[in-house]
Amino acid sequence: MTTTPLPNSSQSDANTATQHPDALGRFGQFGGKYVPETLMPALSELEQAFQQYSNDPDFQQELQYLLKDYVGRPSPLYFAERLTAHYAKPDGSGLQIYLKREDLNHTGAHKINNALAQVLLAKRMGKQRIIAETGAGQHGVATATVCARFGLECIVYMGVHDMERQALNVFRMRLMGATVQPVAAGTGTLKDATSEAIRDWVTNVETTHYILGSVAGPHPYPMLVRDFQAIIGKETRAQCQEKWGGLPDILLACVGGGSNAMGLFHDFVNEPSVRLIGIEAAGEGLDSEKHAATLTRGRPGVLHGAMSYLLQDDEGQVIEPHSVSAGLDYPGVGPEHSYLKDSGRAEYYAVTDEDAIAALRRLSELEGIIPALETAHAIAYLETLCPQLTGSPRIVINCSGRGDKDVHTVAKFITLGEGN
Ligand SMILES: *Cc1c(COP(=O)(O)O)cnc(C)c1O
Repeated sequence: MTTTPLPNSSQSDANTATQHPDALGRFGQFGGKYVPETLMPALSELEQAFQQYSNDPDFQQELQYLLKDYVGRPSPLYFAERLTAHYAKPDGSGLQIYLKREDLNHTGAHKINNALAQVLLAKRMGKQRIIAETGAGQHGVATATVCARFGLECIVYMGVHDMERQALNVFRMRLMGATVQPVAAGTGTLKDATSEAIRDWVTNVETTHYILGSVAGPHPYPMLVRDFQAIIGKETRAQCQEKWGGLPDILLACVGGGSNAMGLFHDFVNEPSVRLIGIEAAGEGLDSEKHAATLTRGRPGVLHGAMSYLLQDDEGQVIEPHSVSAGLDYPGVGPEHSYLKDSGRAEYYAVTDEDAIAALRRLSELEGIIPALETAHAIAYLETLCPQLTGSPRIVINCSGRGDKDVHTVAKFITLGEGN
């Protein structure tokens, strides 16, 4: 990858998109298509449709209209004044913290950007049946939402364990007419739900489109989902330009599969002055074996159709991940993040359950914004990052989702009394 800054930075997104992945869907050694032969035609068909329609004015017009009037875009870039003051140096100088408010989107997270664009593709490809996997239920809800909007059949695969801890989202999906298909295999979590969705797709590939929810899976998904989420970074660039006439200095986002982080990063990958930081879940601690810190602790391997960092034992068996946040509880990670890590372009760190819960509380109290537990991992990293910074950097954090879905979980960990 070239790291040369582009002469016209407003065109950087188009240029990076053509650099990676390569024609085989690889980001360096990562990515690719490790799938049964029966899926190869479907992946090619999807790639072709994506190339055709992403440059099609009708498709773009419909997508832009729905992103605006249905999803509520553009999402604001909000200056977090009290959070900034919390981390300010004693003389009042120092950093500035901004939140990219994806939590304000319809259905409460960034997932809808991708689900909406993919359902428009599916419609044009003549597919009437939609399947999806979900962990926390946010991607399932986003998919059920867009299927209701377009009157398409929707089947969401969800682990039985996740169905229990995210019962509210199960109910939301069913309210919108989706079938939630329980997956009891393995540990009944996201990995098992994803395997089951792929199995369905192999069987029903003629009629069915699989709306994958992150920048993971076989090519073209990591590229396609990234490009549909890249609107986050494009808006951020324009909003920074409008607010201070320049670029942000640091971009910070949580990483599960990696779609909200890639969506924010993509437009800035070729801007070497912009630091890119992704935060994984350290669960009960990196040495506890109960974590989901794939990039920090994993090794390259193949899962769900792609080569990427993976939590695996010495025999290559996938190790069950753990995170208090169901959306980060995944043993793999999108291949482009593995590439950005190894090339040194992006940095990845991990934050524990405990620190994420403390950060959720901090943002709630300081800004009146209850973030998703996933997002709270990125917020928590400010505790480590801010004391290391010099000068007056502007930090943009992707506020990937709202915390309503997590209040129940958080209530088990903290007690709020009178006057707190
Ligand atoms: C699903 C989810 C995530 C994790 O997924 P990515 O693909 O890594 O973005 C993060 N935040 C929220 C709010 C989510 O719903």
